[in-house]
Amino acid sequence: MQLRRLPETLVNQIAAGEVVERPASAVKELVENAIDADATRIDVTVIDGGQTSITVSDDGIGITPEDLSLCIERHATSKLPDDDLIDIRHLGFRGEALPSIGAVSRLSITSRTEGANEAWCLNVEGGRVSDPQPAAHPKGTRVEIRDLFFATPARLKFLKTPRTEMNHVTETMKRLAMAHPAIGFTLSDGTRRRLDLAPEQGELFEARLGRLGTIMGRDFADNALLIDAERESIRLTGYAGLPTFNRGNAALQFLFVNGRPVNDRMLYGALRGAYRDFLASDRYPVVALFVTAPSELVDVNVHPAKTEVRFRDAALVRGLIVGTVKHALAEAGHRAATTVADAALGAVRTGGQALPMSRGAGRYGRFPSSNPSISPGLSDAAAQFGAPLPGLAAAPAAPMATNDWAPVDEAESIDDPGEYPLGVARGQLHATYIVAQTADGIVIVDQHAAHERLVEERIKRGLAADGVARQGMLIPEVVELEDAAAERLLARAPELAEMGLVVEAFGNGAVVVRETPALLGEIDIQGLVQDMADDLAELDDAIALRDRIGDVCATMACHGSVRAGRRLNGEEMNALLREMEATPHSGQCSHGRPTYVELKLHDIEKLFGRR
Ligand code: ADP
Ligand code: MG
Repeated sequence: MQLRRLPETLVNQIAAGEVVERPASAVKELVENAIDADATRIDVTVIDGGQTSITVSDDGIGITPEDLSLCIERHATSKLPDDDLIDIRHLGFRGEALPSIGAVSRLSITSRTEGANEAWCLNVEGGRVSDPQPAAHPKGTRVEIRDLFFATPARLKFLKTPRTEMNHVTETMKRLAMAHPAIGFTLSDGTRRRLDLAPEQGELFEARLGRLGTIMGRDFADNALLIDAERESIRLTGYAGLPTFNRGNAALQFLFVNGRPVNDRMLYGALRGAYRDFLASDRYPVVALFVTAPSELVDVNVHPAKTEVRFRDAALVRGLIVGTVKHALAEAGHRAATTVADAALGAVRTGGQALPMSRGAGRYGRFPSSNPSISPGLSDAAAQFGAPLPGLAAAPAAPMATNDWAPVDEAESIDDPGEYPLGVARGQLHATYIVAQTADGIVIVDQHAAHERLVEERIKRGLAADGVARQGMLIPEVVELEDAAAERLLARAPELAEMGLVVEAFGNGAVVVRETPALLGEIDIQGLVQDMADDLAELDDAIALRDRIGDVCATMACHGSVRAGRRLNGEEMNALLREMEATPHSGQCSHGRPTYVELKLHDIEKLFGRR
């Protein structure tokens, strides 16, 4: 075998394998070039999913005829003027895209610089470059790729249907457009406009919210919290969706580093961490977050496609994301997504047709996490809430009739809903839903979901302070399990004790429960212990229970005294409402479902056609 240097075209084709994986990656490279060229408008046309042609036109600075020949040479770039790989200010810098694309397609670049008399055009076909010719074109650059991958049939075979490829192109453009709201973007498939994004006016935050609203839908803007924080010169800005505004996949999670859309595992992991306590593991928050870091603290040169990044201090960035997003969610208090009430109302139909909804119907206010307007008496009641209540037996073992209305009796009723955001309890339906009256509407609380959330917040507070208060059992209860289940549970005994549940071995697959978390009140111990053992089976030994506090608390709350199907008296119901108002995150349960919905009188009137 003979050692030899590969011909330039082959080198470029190999590089193309990494840089241009599919039409969407070619579009990404060309649009990034246009952004780097200070364009204010970028128009993209993609025919047959990019297989027939991809055209990107911009009104940027243009390319001189001398540079035209150079720009399709490998590693020719105008973007590293000081040869400094540390100080990267442009989206491009590797000087690979145009030569790579030219090596695998028929490429033509037409460009005119400011003040030049004419435009120039250059053609490349499967790596063979022609001399620049004069051409007609306004200021800016137009790059056309025809027959992508004709020179590399293997890659051509991997292309999916035009529709799929077009979807990838659309996604790619959306991401770039989110990061650059001041630039106008269009995307056409030759017959139809797929995207039409006018340049957004105003300063960055305003422009960005406008652009995000256009791309992600108005609902996002209404259901997202503004994020803006900085730690040691790394800044995090953008919007984080409320947990109740979640999705079944990560498609609406947009992350950017220094204006570059990234798919970075560390960053996604940080997001998961931030929402862990508020969402089930198969639900995903909707976010658009932008990290800006001085270029010496972040390396974007990890992969040719530049979608991964390395931070010099990854822990710092992770901490910034988890801390900031968690804090914002806590500040949002019991606010739940506006779409919850909209969805509820949308489901109500009269005469077979959906009712027109007004924007912002059923919008939830914001409340500080400790509500000073709560009277001392009530906050005491709230503090007591969930503790075994005098005169209330545990839920009866036999199924009870739950289909009746249990009104709050006069003596317990507070007349004036006044300032209480969640109103005053008027009664309970199906032994599951608390109905409350507010100053201008009604609130329906899912008592089980709400209680689960309150239990979790209390256990967390207990853990942060000096442990969760426990309550000894008069007669310790023995629970029979399978051997393996008992072992798993006992291995976690010290951790469970911290959370208020004291279990000990009782020989041969049985455990004995001696103490339970006081805040749970009467509980179904058999069910709780069995479920807890099941939960542990799914948990990696290396993971601390504290890190799965949401799951633990959900399981505990499931067997506690306020689960669905238990009658509450007026005092208990109101205590629950007051505690919800005073507790962060109480607007959704640990799985991201809402704990209550609110209907404004205004909306109810609409349901009845009064408005
Ligand atoms: P890179 O973007 O990494 O520099 P490319 O191969 O994508 O490498 O582009 C090579 C060079 O061509 C760029 O550095 C730039 O000078 C020039 N160029 C490419 N596209 C444009 C454009 N749309 N407008 C102005 N200059 C461009
Ligand atoms: Mg480039």
